[in-house]
Amino acid sequence: MKIFFTIANWKMNLGLKDSVKLARAVIKIKNNHKKNKIVLCPSFTSLERVGSLIKRTPLELGAQDMFWEERGAFTGEISPAMLKEAGVKYVILGHSERRNYLKETDKIVGLKTRAALKNGLIPIVCIGETAEERRAGNYWRVLSGQIAEIFRDLKLSPGVRIFVAYEPIWAIGTGKFLDAAAAAEAHLFIRKKISEIFSSTVARSNFTIIYGGSVDSKSILGFTKEQEIQGVLVGGAAQKLASFKELIKKSQCL
Ligand code: PEP
Repeated sequence: MKIFFTIANWKMNLGLKDSVKLARAVIKIKNNHKKNKIVLCPSFTSLERVGSLIKRTPLELGAQDMFWEERGAFTGEISPAMLKEAGVKYVILGHSERRNYLKETDKIVGLKTRAALKNGLIPIVCIGETAEERRAGNYWRVLSGQIAEIFRDLKLSPGVRIFVAYEPIWAIGTGKFLDAAAAAEAHLFIRKKISEIFSSTVARSNFTIIYGGSVDSKSILGFTKEQEIQGVLVGGAAQKLASFKELIKKSQCL
């Protein structure tokens, strides 16, 4: 049976009080498939508290971003070591909202990916096409360009893990999602591109490919059933207890 990851991106929507409240409630949700993983990604200011709450539970902690330098005059930024110190295991990198509002490029995402790996964090690297790119039919080229730039010349030590979140930009926070079969097709393509850069063994054993974009308790079942889809990155539906609980329950019916 595959291990299925449900990664909750709480974005800039939950403050400390709400993050703690939701984390406490998520801890109580019965996990029937112990091997499936649930990762909570609160804002920086809630990382430590949420981290200590979930410490002795099967839940894991992720951050929503980080800077690529180790230390220095980078006002407002958070280093990989700071995340490690707060108990973080995963870090979302290159989310389309950051690419859009903060102009993050594939080059920057590549630097951040290297810094995360160097510091023992598991990067969750987001890639995906815009609505126009999908309409124009050239999204395969877009995806392979992103993969090539982010992972260019990357040397992987044995055993390191990297997540790639395939998130069609037009599907994020819009209620529109790609059907599971089309998402699985994109995942296959992504794994093939990764195989070309590294090897098929590395692509299979070191990379976990997940889908993101308006996943909710109704659409989740389709994604769990596709062998190629190893998990989901969830924004909106993971920010309220009722919808998150329903989604977790459904994702256990693998
Ligand atoms: C996301 O934030 O990565 C995401 C997929 O959001 P949503 O589920 O709200 O589309």
